[in-house]
Amino acid sequence: MSVRVRIAPSPTGNLHIGTARTAVFNWLFARNQGGQFLLRIEDTDLERSKPEFTENIMQGLKWLGLNWDEGPFYQSQRMPLYRAKIQELLDKGLAYRAYETPEELNAMREQQQARKEAPRYNNQHRNLTADQIAAFEAEGRQAVIRFKIEDEREIEWNDLVRGRVSWKGRDLGGDMVVARAASSGSNFSGSNSSDSNSSDSNSSGSNSSDSNGDVGQPLYNFVVVVDDADMKISHVIRGEDHVGNTPKQILLYEALGMKVPIFAHTPLILNESGAKLSKRDGVTSVGDFQAMGFTAEALANYMTLLGWSAPDAQELFSLAEAAKLFSFDRVNKAGAKFDWDKLDWINSQYLHEKSAAELLPMLLPHWQAAGYALDAEADADWLLPLAGMIAPSLTRLKDCVDQGRFFFTPTMDFSDAAKDQLGKEGVAEAMQAVLAALKETPINSVDDTQSLINTVTKALGVKKGLIMRSLRAALMGDMQGPDLAESWVILHRRGFDQPRLEAAIATIQSFSQ
Ligand code: GLU
Repeated sequence: MSVRVRIAPSPTGNLHIGTARTAVFNWLFARNQGGQFLLRIEDTDLERSKPEFTENIMQGLKWLGLNWDEGPFYQSQRMPLYRAKIQELLDKGLAYRAYETPEELNAMREQQQARKEAPRYNNQHRNLTADQIAAFEAEGRQAVIRFKIEDEREIEWNDLVRGRVSWKGRDLGGDMVVARAASSGSNFSGSNSSDSNSSDSNSSGSNSSDSNGDVGQPLYNFVVVVDDADMKISHVIRGEDHVGNTPKQILLYEALGMKVPIFAHTPLILNESGAKLSKRDGVTSVGDFQAMGFTAEALANYMTLLGWSAPDAQELFSLAEAAKLFSFDRVNKAGAKFDWDKLDWINSQYLHEKSAAELLPMLLPHWQAAGYALDAEADADWLLPLAGMIAPSLTRLKDCVDQGRFFFTPTMDFSDAAKDQLGKEGVAEAMQAVLAALKETPINSVDDTQSLINTVTKALGVKKGLIMRSLRAALMGDMQGPDLAESWVILHRRGFDQPRLEAAIATIQSFSQ
């Protein structure tokens, strides 16, 4: 079988981490099998779909390295196909027009609730007579199209993650709405009891402008089937929240005489307290993770581990390497807990491997966002060594703002510890001597700093440690911080070492006043 999979995001928000993880699993499986990975934009909800979300989703997928082989296909451009298929169901007698008003459907649901029954549509308009239909239409009622679901049906599939899954027709909420009245707005779907017990979160919105008035506005569970069949999708790999949609979709494949694909429902992503990862956890979109300073490689790598593990427990790999190892028998059924420490660790591993030249363009936006007007080319002489110096201590790219803080302004405040050091005996003379030597000797390398320190140490006959500690206090304003010699080279290139030594000397002088 030729493997064809797809990611089918609804552009009603930015690329969500759950969608991205589903895309990762689809991509891994496609690449593992030498198959095709398609992108389909499920934009039938015209009210909530926005082109900027489509753009964000495509950018995010590309950023993560999840290149697609076909598409993007837009559902909004495929309405004639959906309408033809709805008509086919009507013609076959497998679907019918139902004329309940939202109020009637609400009343039905309330009565069921009062009887402590699960809400469902009671199929009461299945066999309307021509007279009844004419009367409803004369009243100006608008019909939805309902697909017949027999209570006695058993629906089974062999899920690649969950194994054998079976549903009873009677648990699907009665005959399901496959198309909403074209001009009825969202009222019908809002009160559509047949879908209220499922996770049918993809109901398409109303779309009166695109309606031909005949079969209305086709909804998610229907269009997804038509598209997956039309696009010859072999495996539908999607989040577990869609499990409840699958039996309905299988019935639709059968009704339309289409081949049922293989399903794999991947575990949900959970937060640290075991609930579904949501907006309340602060980050949900791939862009949020990017802004926090995770690299694309690290986030993609981490997502492969959200619900899947490599046979030899390997944890660091590119998507291409993971694709070689990927299989569904190593995908967990249980929810995948989001582990920030693991993501941080993976991110740091990638950052520590990077050269200064690779890292600099990744750090720059974070420094710029923090308000420093830097230029990758004009400032390269000091930014490159800075990037190289802090690389081994970065966990998230954003850490560069804190770790780079010593290098952005000509002078800095002295911490109390730095002041203590500067106040020690002989420090003023030592710093004067360094300043004098500095005016003679340019500092272009770590070696240059060392020979300058040696010269001063010898000339003054003091301990090297005193010079080193005092220099740290004077140049960095603190006793903690990055490598002193490397920092000094950077500060020298910026022209900041002299003003800082002068400021340190002035500070020492102020102690005795
Ligand atoms: N548009 C749906 C979603 O974003 C696609 C579900 C599916 O893969 O069938 O969840």
